[in-house]
Amino acid sequence: MDKASLKDLVRKIVIEMTSPEVPIGISNRHLHLKQEDYDVLFPNQPVKKKKNLKQPGEFAAEQTVTIIGPKGEIPNVRLLAPLRNISQVEISKTDARKLGVNASVSLSGDLSKAEEITLKTKDGSITIKGCIIAKRHIHMNTKEAASLDLKKGDIVKVEVDTPQRKTIFDDVVIRPHENFVLEMHIDTDEANAANISSDTRCRIIT
Ligand SMILES: [Zn+2]
Repeated sequence: MDKASLKDLVRKIVIEMTSPEVPIGISNRHLHLKQEDYDVLFPNQPVKKKKNLKQPGEFAAEQTVTIIGPKGEIPNVRLLAPLRNISQVEISKTDARKLGVNASVSLSGDLSKAEEITLKTKDGSITIKGCIIAKRHIHMNTKEAASLDLKKGDIVKVEVDTPQRKTIFDDVVIRPHENFVLEMHIDTDEANAANISSDTRCRIIT
């Protein structure tokens, strides 16, 4: 074995011994709503659960909206629940092009650089300054974060070993919470670019 191959092998072993496998959740375009916006779009309708998400308490709702930008619209964008205290639409860069929205990459919850977007259902329509491309992040339990010597807001690199398209993602934000379970969230563009499917695992390498 030559020196470079040996170095690579040692590096791989060290990562495997010190860094856990992280499941990947691929986020399709979706939205979060606050109560008053929900009431305009879905008057007198309770939020109906379609499917639980991996993070405890989070679920995909039956309710969907059409999102409308200056250049186009996308129907059937799903509401994730429970309702939050802000309304936010998370799309991919590909969606942004289709809609004609100059959305920038922001951490979920940070709407300081969010763009305007219109949400429409058969019952109502609102325009909010709440459209972002979500920054990739890893949810983890507070205890897991401590054991990995990571804290909220830390930025790490992540290695994904997929067939033909092995990829290292940088700029991955750590989001610990006492109720979270270990899972990296990326959008459909990022998943497609790296040939990632729902059973792909990754590892933190920094
Ligand atoms: Zn997430």
